[in-house]
Amino acid sequence: MQSHDWPRTLAQWLKEARSVVVLTGAGMSAESGIATFRDSQNGLWSQFKSEKLATADAYRQDKALVWGWYVWRMAMVHAAQPNAGHLALAALASLKSDLSIVTQNVDDLHERAGSPDVVHLHGGLFTPRCFACSRPHKGFEPPDDARENPQLRLMPPRCGHCDGYIRPGVVWFGETLPETAWKEARRRVRECDLLLVIGTSGIVYPAASLPMMAKAQGARVVEINPVTTELSTEVDASWRATAAEALPRVLSFLSDDRPTP
Ligand code: NAD
Ligand code: ZN
Repeated sequence: MQSHDWPRTLAQWLKEARSVVVLTGAGMSAESGIATFRDSQNGLWSQFKSEKLATADAYRQDKALVWGWYVWRMAMVHAAQPNAGHLALAALASLKSDLSIVTQNVDDLHERAGSPDVVHLHGGLFTPRCFACSRPHKGFEPPDDARENPQLRLMPPRCGHCDGYIRPGVVWFGETLPETAWKEARRRVRECDLLLVIGTSGIVYPAASLPMMAKAQGARVVEINPVTTELSTEVDASWRATAAEALPRVLSFLSDDRPTP
């Protein structure tokens, strides 16, 4: 199929679908200026591998390094805006009542775009909690200049309850996913008949098992990604485009129609 057919085809599949899940990864936010994991290993941060920073051991060994890196990421996300892809997904949700987003992203750009129903598989940058007692820690704001300094070193604040150190609210490598979010993601994928997989390399498990789960139970699975991924051979269709290019084009085919039930 020619690539110029994709917006129309996908719009048609969206119309036909009863229940839609959109699985997003770091590529969803790339056009908002937030580096994906792989990109962030090049550039300024090349001396540290992000996988090496995103572990409980790394935090134990050097809290200022790890907390500083997350504070820099918080500041980047604060300054970023949802892109045309995030906005189109929010608009799609208003046309399609049974559409939910399951994201691996730790930013809040889906919410800020207006998407009403977002499941965060890997936690969030803005929900830090105590490393010792797990209580949420409210009120932390990144310093004004944090965005300019990807190599920021900063000791984490202390817990008001037990004086333990505060850790980022994200899921690190080697940790299990938040139980409710993972359960909810699987439930929605089991019930969907169309899964859109946008901006994920498909290498981080168990999130990467969701497309196979959808396929196994007969759902259509469509990937939107500018490059080939681990998932490309498994899905029904791969649209080589970016999120901000592709999604507004699909929306334009749908928005003339009246809302579907
Ligand atoms: P990844 O970095 O492994 O892969 C990103 C994918 O996005 C790649 O396949 C790439 O080709 C694709 N991509 C790049 N630009 C795109 C665009 N404009 N439109 C569509 N696709 C594009 O990311 P991942 O698969 O999400 O897994 C890595 C982990 O990194 C996740 O667990 C996530 O929590 C974390 N992460 C999150 C953020 C964020 O919250 N914004 C940023 C970096 C990493
Ligand atoms: Zn505590």
